[in-house]
Amino acid sequence: MLPHLEALNDTKACPLWHDTEDMPEVLPPLATDEMCELLIVGGGFTGLWAAIQAKERRPNADIILIEQTFVGDGASGRCGGFMSASLAHGETNTEHRFPGEADRLEALGVQNMKELLESLKRYNIDARYEHTGSTSVALDPDSAERLYAEYQRSKAEGYDVVWYDKDAVRKQVNSSTFYGGLWYRDGDGVVDPARLCWGLKAAVLNLGVRIFEGTKLLGLDETGQDGIKANCNGGVIHSDKVLLATNAYRNLIGQARRSVIAVWDYQIATEALTPEQIESIAWGSSESRHALSDYNNMFHYFRLTKDNRITWGGGGSVRHYFNSGTDKRFEFSQARYETLAKEFFKTFPQLSDVKFSHKWGGIIASSTRFCVVPGVTHGGRVAWAIGYTGLGVGASRFGARIGIELLGYSPSDILKMKFVTKKALPWAPEPFCWLGVKLTQRALIKADKNGGKRGLWLKFLDLLGLGFTC
Ligand SMILES: Cc1cc2nc3c(=O)[nH]c(=O)nc-3n(C[C@H](O)[C@H](O)[C@H](O)COP(=O)(O)OP(=O)(O)OC[C@H]3O[C@@H](n4cnc5c(N)ncnc54)[C@H](O)[C@@H]3O)c2cc1C
Repeated sequence: MLPHLEALNDTKACPLWHDTEDMPEVLPPLATDEMCELLIVGGGFTGLWAAIQAKERRPNADIILIEQTFVGDGASGRCGGFMSASLAHGETNTEHRFPGEADRLEALGVQNMKELLESLKRYNIDARYEHTGSTSVALDPDSAERLYAEYQRSKAEGYDVVWYDKDAVRKQVNSSTFYGGLWYRDGDGVVDPARLCWGLKAAVLNLGVRIFEGTKLLGLDETGQDGIKANCNGGVIHSDKVLLATNAYRNLIGQARRSVIAVWDYQIATEALTPEQIESIAWGSSESRHALSDYNNMFHYFRLTKDNRITWGGGGSVRHYFNSGTDKRFEFSQARYETLAKEFFKTFPQLSDVKFSHKWGGIIASSTRFCVVPGVTHGGRVAWAIGYTGLGVGASRFGARIGIELLGYSPSDILKMKFVTKKALPWAPEPFCWLGVKLTQRALIKADKNGGKRGLWLKFLDLLGLGFTC
């Protein structure tokens, strides 16, 4: 049997982050009709941060949060845990989409991250946060040149950046596939994302919010002055306002639904590495416990956990055509796991004796603007904040803030920003959307093989601001 297949032999099909005895008990579902001031739908980062921030702004607010399965079962509890200050998926996307607001968005992103970390302390949340910064590695000489140019630009703009040439980067993390590295030392870090969800859940409960897990929103009816009637399995919730924090899952509001598509992203995790294995890749004993991604369109992201496992994900997310692409059966894609394992060993052949302990997938909500899409309807009673694409761990706290401000919880002038008011382009209907995604992925893979040189299709998409990846 091929070594990468053997390494996947006894791998558990479960997110690494969920496989712990500390997972909090799942709370009982809704069993009777209820009333509240604010109903939050979705127990991921957006829903949980929305509950906290609404309570901070209006301590007496009577809030219910419902989650169709359990808190942290969506992207939030399955993601890579890379936490970036960027609110609009990086500098290039921000400047392209929100010219004139880039500086403000950057400042708001820094403030959001600062407040997020303060909240972890205030609510005593141990999300296993590590301040690693973020590091990109180039996988060929041409990409190293482009990455070096980015380093020079970033340095000139005042960012705290460190450049590693081929030899230097391999001293940080030893892979013969690396040709250069750029370390952004400030701001960013990594967390255990499920622990972040569960810590937020405990904080939300302590603030007096009622949570019903195993409770799915099935439909919304307007009831005139009385507000909104939310039909759920288990009962009806009458509320003044509703925030839909349902990200990639089917949204009940057409405008919101058309603004995102679900794409699957997959990860594997190794067993905890021994000190000798860690030494063989230098990682962890170097300047930083770098949180890495490669400088490709179809990029991988990889990091160490507190107990020195490597989680390895990305390399191409997958759009499935049927059932809006959210069907649970897509979670286990053996072909993707095998490709990930093969790529892992190509990067770290020194670890050929390492086995993979976990494999899992999760759903990214990709929007045409590649960052959060907020919106409000029903005369200001129903809002949504969805579609962070691949960068939502930090940004979801800000998305939640926009969501509750749109519902009247201490609105600020951020609601006047284009970031909030500009309508997101809807995705094309199927099968055009699926075909477009496939064509674009093929073009992105070709560009990666070609030292980053973009073909005609990507150049055309760039003109429209759509030539991007998760
Ligand atoms: C594999 C993977 C890796 C990622 N890695 C990173 C990363 O390293 N860094 C980063 O910044 N971002 C990353 N992301 C993106 C990030 O995880 C998301 O942007 C973020 O978690 C979105 O949070 P959310 O609360 O909006 O959505 P979710 O966490 O998806 O939460 C939505 C919740 O709503 C619930 N729900 C849906 N419909 C209903 C309904 N009708 N009734 C009741 N409940 C409902 C769902 O069950 C779900 O729990 C990754 C995503 C994936 C999938």
